[in-house]
Amino acid sequence: MSRLELRWASSTDIDGATPLHGGTEVVPLLRAGLLQAETLVDIRGVVPCGIDGTRIGAGATLAELECDPQVPAALREACRLAASPQLRNMGSIGGNLLQATRCWYWRLAWPCRLNRTSEGYGDACFARDGEHREHAIFANDFCASAHPSDVAAALLALGATLRTSRRELPVADLYRVPTEDDRRTTTLEPGELILELDVPEPERSIYLKAMERKQWAFPIVGVAAARSAGVTRIVLAGVAPVPWLLEGSVDDATPLPRNAYKVDVARALVERARTALDAG
Ligand SMILES: Cc1cc2nc3c(=O)[nH]c(=O)nc-3n(C[C@H](O)[C@H](O)[C@H](O)COP(=O)(O)OP(=O)(O)OC[C@H]3O[C@@H](n4cnc5c(N)ncnc54)[C@H](O)[C@@H]3O)c2cc1C
Ligand code: SF4
Repeated sequence: MSRLELRWASSTDIDGATPLHGGTEVVPLLRAGLLQAETLVDIRGVVPCGIDGTRIGAGATLAELECDPQVPAALREACRLAASPQLRNMGSIGGNLLQATRCWYWRLAWPCRLNRTSEGYGDACFARDGEHREHAIFANDFCASAHPSDVAAALLALGATLRTSRRELPVADLYRVPTEDDRRTTTLEPGELILELDVPEPERSIYLKAMERKQWAFPIVGVAAARSAGVTRIVLAGVAPVPWLLEGSVDDATPLPRNAYKVDVARALVERARTALDAG
């Protein structure tokens, strides 16, 4: 077995190493053999932290965000409802946006379409024909994984933008639905770091989440809604391989045999979110 090197980043040029911030995702993935890395680089010294008006450092923890009045309500609530207090104290917003799927087949290293082994990617989605109660109801043809980030849905609804070590982009452009030709679920390039976010203040916003238990659970369905300049954007977590901008109706979903209940949950939460925004 090769040795794993850990070093501190001295600049945002990390030269092919795997970035590590709070480690709440990196460490379990390494331990499970799902992440292969020769060098880990601790980026806490080079990624901005803190919150200043609409600017949020990618190193800010979910615990800081959930209680800062400068942060829009939808993002505060998405952070408050994520994970556990211990994880929110360690976990950064940058790391949250880049967390891997919770698909149980992927986490158990089944050779599926998103799992790269020494022989390349697999050619089956085991969830589609197998256990998919918690999987996607939109864009689930190639891979039915459900995006686990509450935070990403809130940021997308709020129209946030990212500054990386190489460019600026809307949060929406960070994500991509995986395809046969390109299995990635984000557009971040190797070595590219997320440094900062700009989160415009909306007129109103809200985040609602259905989960298996009242805390420490990923979203069965999360609904972020934000109104800015009279326009309402609704984004769903836990329903597609990426945070899902609802452009049509929830009834456009294509559920699998055992997750059609998610359509009802999403419909109810979207209606509640709209009512809450209208009520002010
Ligand atoms: C048990 C459990 C329950 C959870 N529940 C929820 C939940 O309900 N809702 C939810 O939204 N999330 C949930 N999470 C996810 C949690 O919020 C993330 O694990 C955490 O925010 C990741 O932050 P980190 O700093 O620890 O990331 P790390 O583990 O350090 O990194 C995560 C990934 O991002 C990369 N990375 C980190 N920072 C940067 C950066 N600035 N630029 C580029 N790449 C970077 C790393 O290389 C790695 O690929 C849960 C996690 C666990 C373990
Ligand atoms: S849902 Fe995606 S990650 Fe899960 S088994 Fe299917 S292809 Fe793999």
